[in-house]
Amino acid sequence: MAKIQSQVKMKEQKISERIKNFSEVPLGYNEEEAVQEASRCLQCRQAPCIKGCPVSINIPEFIRLARERKFLESARLIKEANSLPAICGRVCPQEEQCEKACVLNKQKKAIAIGYLERFVSDYERDKKRIYIPEIKVRKNEKIAIVGSGPSGLTCAGELKKMGYSVTVFEGLHRGGGVLSYGIPEFRLPKEIVRQEIEYIKRLGVEIKYNMVIGKLYTVDELLEQGFSAVYIAAGAGYPSFMGIPGENLNYIYSSNEFLTRINLMKAYRFPQYDTPIKIGRKVAVIGGGNTAMDSARSALRLNPGKVYLIYRRSREEMPARIEESHRAEEEGVKFHLLTLPVEFLDDEKGNVRVMRCQKMKLGEKDSSGRRRPIAIPGTEFEIEVDSVVVAIGTQANPLVAAATKNLKTNKWGYIIVDEFGRTSRPEVFAGGDIVSGSATVIAAMGVARKAAQAIDRYLKEKRG
Ligand code: FAD
Ligand code: SF4
Repeated sequence: MAKIQSQVKMKEQKISERIKNFSEVPLGYNEEEAVQEASRCLQCRQAPCIKGCPVSINIPEFIRLARERKFLESARLIKEANSLPAICGRVCPQEEQCEKACVLNKQKKAIAIGYLERFVSDYERDKKRIYIPEIKVRKNEKIAIVGSGPSGLTCAGELKKMGYSVTVFEGLHRGGGVLSYGIPEFRLPKEIVRQEIEYIKRLGVEIKYNMVIGKLYTVDELLEQGFSAVYIAAGAGYPSFMGIPGENLNYIYSSNEFLTRINLMKAYRFPQYDTPIKIGRKVAVIGGGNTAMDSARSALRLNPGKVYLIYRRSREEMPARIEESHRAEEEGVKFHLLTLPVEFLDDEKGNVRVMRCQKMKLGEKDSSGRRRPIAIPGTEFEIEVDSVVVAIGTQANPLVAAATKNLKTNKWGYIIVDEFGRTSRPEVFAGGDIVSGSATVIAAMGVARKAAQAIDRYLKEKRG
């Protein structure tokens, strides 16, 4: 049997360079590298990789087209299942999905499906050959979407392709949800997000900004205005805090505020943008997920001093993508694992000065399937800090649900839906983080596709 070649590595910015800028870290394949990587694919008939993809992209076929240098055809095939491929090629946890299912993963040589997806979609965009499918059918009904994150945009695109008139209502002045205000430029350039939103608009979807649903209009008012169905994709952008003494001191930020000020308000481009953020030279980031890694790596780029990552479990339990925690560490973020902050102390002027912590050990598994952290008595210690970012997760923003009559939510405020995204109201559907809690981009997109089909079925039945 011929020896299986290893994955073609993607070039990336040198560590010493990248910590001084916010430009994208991985630099992408060139044509030759993409063809070389695509040529390793075995074109398996059963293609387990497709089952690993939450939106069922025809992976072997798009890779075959790339291998034959039919890059535009390859990109278009992906778009039949995924309207935001340049984004997913960059931020999807492929190592837990399609690449995990790839038969070559047994030898740790899975095809770099994400890198290839990124390459062909970048190729289509760079060549300015973005294909806009002709929408031949026109349906009379208008549909409203609340939120322009990956879930809202996907549902909007799918419904538009079915012939509906679709309007997205976005509360912020810019679209993309977490893709714009959460994930930093060095992982996901905002120009890519802008162009993927442009694609959805060119399909014919209207996006209205600065429209906070629940304040400006309620869902019921949208229905009264002539929308036949509403898809709620408002995300879970409400910050969580630990509830420990001193947490309200100055310079203790939620990760939402910290990342929004950097990404959306461009604090990292001060003084070009007049919206800086003050963090000092000793920054602690609390948490172990992607948000914590993004916060720590952003802090490191803003601050040439020390950045600590404080996580109460061990490395194995960290929910962040392995490649992101690896990059954070190699860039110089110092990990304090099995460590829990218990109190913040001030400098007598109301600013945080010290974080008191306690060492932890791991006990039995809890309801999340991860081993429960248990405090070890007598192990308290202090870390000097100038600022702290709390990145321990987010919650549902209650605004839309509270302003929608008879819409059922669970005890945490997430909207209750069935497997098709149908809520307790027949004309109201929901999906993405506002249903599942903070999850992934592709999961938010997968449920949006299902909901679009359910909305179509609902309206067909209504028409009779
Ligand atoms: P969101 O992306 O949150 O979008 C919701 C939109 O609704 C927002 O634009 C919001 O402004 C708008 N909205 C809210 N309320 C209203 C209202 N009342 N009226 C009108 N509009 C409203 N996932 C990955 O797969 N890979 C990653 O690498 C990754 N990294 C992440 C890093 C960070 C920092 C964060 C916070 C999350 C990350 N995630 C990652 C998770 C992923 O981004 C989310 O699961 C995904 O964005 C959820 O999509 P959504 O459309 O449901 O919600
Ligand atoms: Fe190619 Fe791996 Fe999918 Fe087989 S499982 S078709 S090798 S990507």
